Amino acid sequence: MGYVVAPLILVLVFSCAVSADTVPRVRAFDARSAFILGRGAQASPTLSALVHALQETDLIVHVEVCHEGANPAPGTTRFVTKAGAYRYLRISIAQSVTGDAAVALLGHELYHAWEIAQARWVVDAAGVERLYESIGHVHKRGGVTWADSAAARSAGRQVQAELRGFAAGD
Ligand SMILES: [Zn+2]
Repeated sequence: MGYVVAPLILVLVFSCAVSADTVPRVRAFDARSAFILGRGAQASPTLSALVHALQETDLIVHVEVCHEGANPAPGTTRFVTKAGAYRYLRISIAQSVTGDAAVALLGHELYHAWEIAQARWVVDAAGVERLYESIGHVHKRGGVTWADSAAARSAGRQVQAELRGFAAGD
């Protein structure tokens, strides 16, 4: 009987691991962000690779399309909280950004998520600021802390180029 028990446990452990991995880490909050995410995953290998890479991290990334004025920039990535084993980010895309520009902006913001994913020590907004002091640049204006990186801007441009190629049938 002892020989039967061990494989059963193995199977159970394996199936648990599989179901945990199938929970999407990048989650669209509304129909519009679901469309942008779907279009990006289909037409941009870079954006698709970012979504797959984030699947292997401790991040859960919510994507939303927000009203004008709700955010200081067309695209933002915010650290929401660390809870249990997960760190939560929220990506907001302004409603006024549409079409391929919205997909490219999402690619840019997902790259920020990837940068934060690799810095496991980042567990709050102050940590994000310290991270970008080292890998990008940070400045404060109007009571808002802005951070960006050349690598994320490059990822956004790459997504835009891939979308143009996809539209042209390449
Ligand atoms: Zn950025």
